[in-house]
Amino acid sequence: MKLLVTGGAGFIGSNFVLYMLKEHPTYEIINVDALTYAGNLENLKSIESHPNYTFVKADIQDAAAMDALFQQGIDIVVNFAAESHVDRSILDPGIFVTTNVMGTQVLLDAAKKYGITKFVQVSTDEVYGTLGATGLFTEETPLAPNSPYSASKAGGDLLVRAYHETFGLPVNITRCSNNYGPYQFPEKLIPLMITQALNDQQLPVYGDGLHIRDWLYVEDHCSAIDLVIHEGVNGEIYNVGGNNERTNIQIVKTILAELGKPESLITFVKDRPGHDRRYGIDATKLTNELSWSPKHNFESGIKETIRWYLDNQEWWTRIQSGAYQTYYEKQYGTR
Ligand code: NAD
Repeated sequence: MKLLVTGGAGFIGSNFVLYMLKEHPTYEIINVDALTYAGNLENLKSIESHPNYTFVKADIQDAAAMDALFQQGIDIVVNFAAESHVDRSILDPGIFVTTNVMGTQVLLDAAKKYGITKFVQVSTDEVYGTLGATGLFTEETPLAPNSPYSASKAGGDLLVRAYHETFGLPVNITRCSNNYGPYQFPEKLIPLMITQALNDQQLPVYGDGLHIRDWLYVEDHCSAIDLVIHEGVNGEIYNVGGNNERTNIQIVKTILAELGKPESLITFVKDRPGHDRRYGIDATKLTNELSWSPKHNFESGIKETIRWYLDNQEWWTRIQSGAYQTYYEKQYGTR
């Protein structure tokens, strides 16, 4: 089996590459990544000379480069490559459209030209928009994206659907809730709060802090994708969720308590424009039809994640010393 993972140097992609090499040691994995600010080959240092692993630096929008890759005979594609941060999509929407929509189309064309057995599009619950106090997103919930990021992901998803309907491409779309775990770039909520707290710096919380997200441990997401690759019915969408709804302020307070840091570090900042109030995933379809269940509850997952950031300070301090500093100041002001 030859598996092409796009965006495999990012947070979920690198966890997925490590997971698949462990679960399917005979699979040949090609990781193609443009190494944007979010891509980090350090995440994959432990397997860089693994005989079944190859890294290729290329942009998924580069049709000639993708053609050359698919010529090698790819069986499965898992598309993680994306611009993934909502705040950045508000600052600069254009690159979200080119990467997340046009990049997906380039991959679909190559998959159609050379033939594959499965194309999995890794998407997000954010394409469904926002929920009120009750109810959950199902696969039938209409798309109503509210940010340039989620709109671009919805655009990619619709192209994937269309290539199935029009050309019979064997596809699945997975839509997951917020992931957390090792190797997550420190701009995202959980690593942002852990790293700020470890540095004894302010923890910036948007609005009233009562926005709700459903948290999924990254390894549970990887196991769901593995199942979808092998057992997903072509053309189907599968929601993936952790059943762990928490307000942002609950998350922040949990992290502070775990690290023994004071709540006085919390600073409420101006809310993000178009900020979705609540996401909640109904993953019944994946559970009932493919027998998936998450292995991590939030209490143990957050402890493991905090431990990882404590044990890998070099990993994130190196990131914080680069261009990330400029981004942080633009977003939240001086530290
Ligand atoms: P990430 O930002 O950590 O990683 C994205 C990776 O894609 C990086 O390695 C980057 O270098 C690469 N990339 C970006 N543009 C590229 C291009 N044009 N060509 C090739 N590579 C490119 O993102 P993540 O958090 O790991 O998310 C992975 C996928 O999962 C994304 O598609 C995202 O929309 C989706 N998702 C993420 C979450 C989450 O909580 N992190 C939740 C739902 C869905």
